[in-house]
Amino acid sequence: MADDTLFHKIIRREIPADVVYEDDHMIAFRDIAPQAPVHVLFVPKDTIPTLDAAQPSQAELIGRLALAAAEYARQQGLAEDGYRVVMNCNDHGGQTVYQMHLHLLAGAPLGRFGAA
Ligand code: AMP
Repeated sequence: MADDTLFHKIIRREIPADVVYEDDHMIAFRDIAPQAPVHVLFVPKDTIPTLDAAQPSQAELIGRLALAAAEYARQQGLAEDGYRVVMNCNDHGGQTVYQMHLHLLAGAPLGRFGAA
């Protein structure tokens, strides 16, 4: 079911997560398998399986995710050193949870990225 992913269960508080931010539009929690010293996922509460499935009417929501990540990085003192935001889309993009989400990675110099 598109609206019953792992992240929907976290949104509904059916499974635990280390939540760092929440508002009417999204929830943000620490990734369980961090790929950087700071690795937080920003997940919309509306069901959007992938970036590819996002609609023009959801443009504001996608912008909110990006701005919330930037605000979190600023609040945590990470902005000046810098950070990376990533959205994986579908199989080749490495997406494993099919509720769209934005990764915030920070806290150390990050390597270049591309094909493994
Ligand atoms: P993606 O591969 O882009 O779909 O990202 C999914 C992310 O969810 C991965 O980085 C996982 O480590 C992370 N993840 C999986 N299960 C959990 C969980 N229970 N709590 C927090 N993060 C999780």
